Amino acid sequence: MDRCVFCGGDVKEDIVTLDLRVGNRLLVIEDVPAEVCQKCGEKTFSPETTKMIQEIARYKPTPIKEICVPVVSLKEAA
Ligand SMILES: [Zn+2]
Repeated sequence: MDRCVFCGGDVKEDIVTLDLRVGNRLLVIEDVPAEVCQKCGEKTFSPETTKMIQEIARYKPTPIKEICVPVVSLKEAA
């Protein structure tokens, strides 16, 4: 079993949802295979997956759905 490069925790294969900033837009990518650290939650991706994520960020395919994202300001909330 692999170990997390950050904390040395156990790493497990999982399918995750990734949020990515592309310019000033937020892009959410679902069904991303990743190795997830069970201790700190750090996600690592295979070189293949990383390449696919980069392609998506570059070519922005038609979204399957859109979601509403709440935005808060730390200044306003204080
Ligand atoms: Zn970790």
